[in-house]
Amino acid sequence: PVDRSPEIQEARLKLPILAEEQVIMEAIQENPVVVLCGETGSGKTTQVPQFLYEAGYGSENDIIGITEPRRVAAVTMSQRVALEMNLPQNVVSYQIRYEGNVSPETKIKFMTDGVLLKEIQKDFLLKRYRVIIIDEAHERSVYTDILIGLLSRIVPLRTKKGLPLKLIIMSATLRIEDFTENKKLFPITPPVIKVDARQFPVTVHFNKRTPLDDYVGECFRKICKIHRMLPSGGILVFLTGQAEVHSLCRRLRKMFPYRSKQEPKVAAEKDEAVQETEALKAFKKSKPKKNMNLPKINLDNYSALPVDEGDEDREAGVDDEEGEGSDFDLDLGDAGSDEDEESDSSLPLFVLPLYSLLAPEKQAKVFRPPPSGTRLCVVATNVAETSLTIPGIKYVVDCGKVKKRFYDKVTGVSSFRVDWTSQASADQRAGRAGRTEPGHCYRLYSSAVFSDFEQFSQPEITRRPVEDLVLQMKDLNIEKVVNFPFPTPPSTDTLIAAEELLIALGALVEPLKTGRLTVMQKAKLSCPITPLGRTMASFPVAPRYAKMLALGKQHDCLQYVITIVAAMTVRELFEELDRPALNDEENVVLKGKKGRVLQMQKIWAGQGPAQKLGDLMVMLGAVGACEYSGLTPTFCERNGLRFKAMMEIRRLRGQLTTAVNSLCPDVSMFFNSKMQPPSESQVNYLRQIVMSGLGDHIARRIRPEELLDDAWRNAYKTPLLEDPVFIHPNSSLFRQLPDFVVFQEILETTKMYMKGVSSIEPEWIP
Ligand code: ADP
Ligand code: MG
Repeated sequence: PVDRSPEIQEARLKLPILAEEQVIMEAIQENPVVVLCGETGSGKTTQVPQFLYEAGYGSENDIIGITEPRRVAAVTMSQRVALEMNLPQNVVSYQIRYEGNVSPETKIKFMTDGVLLKEIQKDFLLKRYRVIIIDEAHERSVYTDILIGLLSRIVPLRTKKGLPLKLIIMSATLRIEDFTENKKLFPITPPVIKVDARQFPVTVHFNKRTPLDDYVGECFRKICKIHRMLPSGGILVFLTGQAEVHSLCRRLRKMFPYRSKQEPKVAAEKDEAVQETEALKAFKKSKPKKNMNLPKINLDNYSALPVDEGDEDREAGVDDEEGEGSDFDLDLGDAGSDEDEESDSSLPLFVLPLYSLLAPEKQAKVFRPPPSGTRLCVVATNVAETSLTIPGIKYVVDCGKVKKRFYDKVTGVSSFRVDWTSQASADQRAGRAGRTEPGHCYRLYSSAVFSDFEQFSQPEITRRPVEDLVLQMKDLNIEKVVNFPFPTPPSTDTLIAAEELLIALGALVEPLKTGRLTVMQKAKLSCPITPLGRTMASFPVAPRYAKMLALGKQHDCLQYVITIVAAMTVRELFEELDRPALNDEENVVLKGKKGRVLQMQKIWAGQGPAQKLGDLMVMLGAVGACEYSGLTPTFCERNGLRFKAMMEIRRLRGQLTTAVNSLCPDVSMFFNSKMQPPSESQVNYLRQIVMSGLGDHIARRIRPEELLDDAWRNAYKTPLLEDPVFIHPNSSLFRQLPDFVVFQEILETTKMYMKGVSSIEPEWIP
């Protein structure tokens, strides 16, 4: 029996899903698979696990598992459910990529979908679970899709074994045909239960004109108007990324200041300044060892996984939530005259940011009532669209945009683009205004623009490369990935491209060539996983980087390889400083900082041969310096590093070290976050190791004498692209322009720029 507090009990009773408890539980008892649809806020995530628990699931040795596509949701929801049930967090727990509080007592386990995928690799039948809930299935994240495909096979297998497993798929929208009407997935159509949410009417107001690009400014003006003119009620604003969220928060706080106690922090800052110079000296002083020139790495000397052994804390793939980081194309500029308007402290606005990577304790603030006499204003990315329900929202301001990463299928070139969202998403956003009383949604675009939106967003799996998924599937011994029951299959070309890359990396066995094949024949060839592939699949990073790790134990390079891989996986170590400033004051600050950061990057790029490692040496240097300084927010802020990214790199380094150690105990690496700069020969090994994972990402400089077209001045040629690609002016190799380079990826902004560039020697190229 669950012992809930009276307040919790009262709040629960107001949730529409409570009226459906019996219907839901009966459907679950009678069917192996059930689909549950209900508006955001109807109580799916917080209540269904409780229904199951009270019905006796999770009683003996088995647990209730719930997957979330976002880490935020896994953490907050486990906390909320523990609180509602009056149970400790070792019983209602969470597990995300880096952390968790799961214990032997755990009965309800929230996790990211990547975590469950990893568990399937260890125990295909998921025998620990009696029930699995796939939450937020409408988001159609790649891992959600794969999990549903796998579970569609696991459920009947478990029935055969006499250990039935229940699968519940929960969605905030009714668009579920990809699951229910897909006979390959579920031959028997699962029942669909709809929960009617008590949704109050929301009046939608379209703009007459659609602002050309300054939608942040337009948001600002709209919020000012709402706050000045409309009755009380919280405001929820949808923007596209962290940088925008912060800049709008700043402007709003300046305009409608809310004063609470302020802590002095001057003393602390001084301390860190002292620490930092010492740290820098220490890093620079530690001289690299001298060694012979241009040694060669042995490409066959990799570590391979002993059969039947896995790694504990692996989460497949890389998340790039909300395209965090690169804000190249965002115009934060300001179009109106509002900056001159008087700030007004008689109308305090309690402004809170909300986005995936925000620290959990800061996220939790949005659930608490604002200080009395203030109005709540949450400035969010699309996390607030469906994963989290913020109480008391009466006004929604929707910029109508979303930031997405786009990939070119053929070349792999990617770009972050802010694009119009879908009609379904815009309606979800509007719905947030009608949870507690009738509300209003202000769309900062015209109704004509809205009618041009696509109806639904494309599932993620159709929009990105899939080599990581294919490798994970091969590791599950799914040989013919084309036959996998995807809810929405990726294109055959994408699948072939993934297999070809994995063959090139040595992760899959190359099939015997038998003349020219059609695309379909090619896709049906069977290429099983190699021992190296198994090792690679055991690392929680993309296959290219996993290959580098597998080669990394040679010549004492492992700690550097781990750091480089961690840095490349986390992405965007540096704050974006090439953005237009908000005002003159910020302009000065930005300029000063940029100068300083450039100087630091020069130091981190090293001297002599170390420079050949290019941007990767800068990464090593930045991580090194950061660790020597004790990794403080102040150090990061002053040097243009993203504190969050640096923290993640530290965690990932620890995790990768554990993974490598369990794989080859003979190496037995001790994780020390502080490291000496690599020696000259190590630099050369590192360049080759990096190339082993990025063998198809090689570019050759166009020499002046080859120049026919000015567009190719200082440009590089890559095998796949017709167009010139460039080294970014911020890169440490921009002044050198080596003849041959290897790059992490190409990001298209104003030009096609290579990111993560390192120089290589032509004789290394096969
Ligand atoms: P759904 O999953 O259907 O979108 P939820 O179960 O997430 O719905 O939310 C149900 C209710 O619980 C909402 O009204 C929401 O405001 C409330 N709620 C959820 N999380 C929290 C929290 N951390 N603090 C306070 N209330 C919460
Ligand atoms: Mg939910």
